[in-house]
Amino acid sequence: MSKTALITGVTGQDGAYLSQFLLGKGYKVIGMARRSSHSENMLHRLKWLGVEKDVEIVDGNLGDLSALSRLVRTVKPDEVYNLGAQSFVGLSWDQPIQTAQDTGVGVLNVLEAVRLERPEARVYQASSSEMYGLIQQPMQTEATPFYPRSPYAVAKLFGHWMTVNYRESFGMHASSGILFNHESPLRGLEFVTRKVTDGAARIKLGLAKELRMGNMEAKRDWGHARDYVKAMWMMLQQEVADDYVIATGVTTTVREMVDLAFNHVDLDPEDFLVEDPRFMRPAEVDVLLGDPAKAKANLGWAPETTLSEMIVEMVEADLERYRSAARSSG
Ligand code: NDP
Ligand code: GDP
Repeated sequence: MSKTALITGVTGQDGAYLSQFLLGKGYKVIGMARRSSHSENMLHRLKWLGVEKDVEIVDGNLGDLSALSRLVRTVKPDEVYNLGAQSFVGLSWDQPIQTAQDTGVGVLNVLEAVRLERPEARVYQASSSEMYGLIQQPMQTEATPFYPRSPYAVAKLFGHWMTVNYRESFGMHASSGILFNHESPLRGLEFVTRKVTDGAARIKLGLAKELRMGNMEAKRDWGHARDYVKAMWMMLQQEVADDYVIATGVTTTVREMVDLAFNHVDLDPEDFLVEDPRFMRPAEVDVLLGDPAKAKANLGWAPETTLSEMIVEMVEADLERYRSAARSSG
């Protein structure tokens, strides 16, 4: 009998890669998506990976516990992956309450729906390295204290501790993956890597003349989403639920990441970069660096893609998007 997985946030970057991965393992994949007035394009990431016809899409919203409960009751999932969230740190200062509801209370709604309707299901919660914020140790592990620096990170911290609490209070198999930044050609354009690879592609093709950026000195531990979704599944295959840091163990400045993208298309970024205070944040997370030793020891997980390989893949994908758009319009 194949297992059934329910994924919230299936229209996002990780939802697409995780769907592809679980389908490859023979799972029945049910993806929860929220209705919008322009749903035509809703499945574009699943389409890009060629799996949109294999995922069963069901309506739902993290804010509606009654709908979530009905869904869990009907679908009877073996595994629930809660990837849905308002996931952009920058926006979380403009929409702190919506962020608290979707990214924070939404987690509690999922946990409650599972507790009430299907307590034996295993739950994955998409926690974030942003919870470390103003870092308390140079390299962050599962034992490093948290110090969130944005409404997004505060909401994620609520979701993280709720997951731990439901595990300890009700014996649920609920795991929290503390994932460091992970990117891909399917990353949203508002995030810095994709903004940069898209910008480098547009400048190379003569479609733009500059790239406006915020803090170039921030450092992130960047990995590939395709590698990271495997770790989510591995966590739920363990006998005992637990929390895991998923990271590469390498940190890089935004400036160095920009160099990788522009060098790939033989351009000097200094000719095109414009510092723009609009992209500076009210409180910054200066540096993140994760230690994936526990995931390696317990799950046998290790990252497979280097930052440089990933940035090249992303720039190539963005170049191809513009070239194919030009072909179909001309
Ligand atoms: P995306 O922003 O690409 O996807 C977020 C998903 O959540 C979308 O499918 C979105 O739907 C959905 N969503 C948002 N609000 C609701 C709601 N109220 N009800 C139902 N669905 C909702 O994020 P990623 O795929 O990059 O990330 C997946 C998860 O992992 C997120 O929780 C994110 O915060 C977390 N995370 C991500 C990291 C990263 O580097 N990518 C790092 C650490 C954690 P819609 O398409 O309708 O907007
Ligand atoms: P985050 O780690 O979840 O906030 O991921 P982002 O990709 O949004 O940002 C990573 C880092 O890049 C942060 O320190 C940002 O301040 C920095 N950064 C610098 N310029 C930009 C920009 O133009 N857009 C974004 N999104 N981030 C930028």
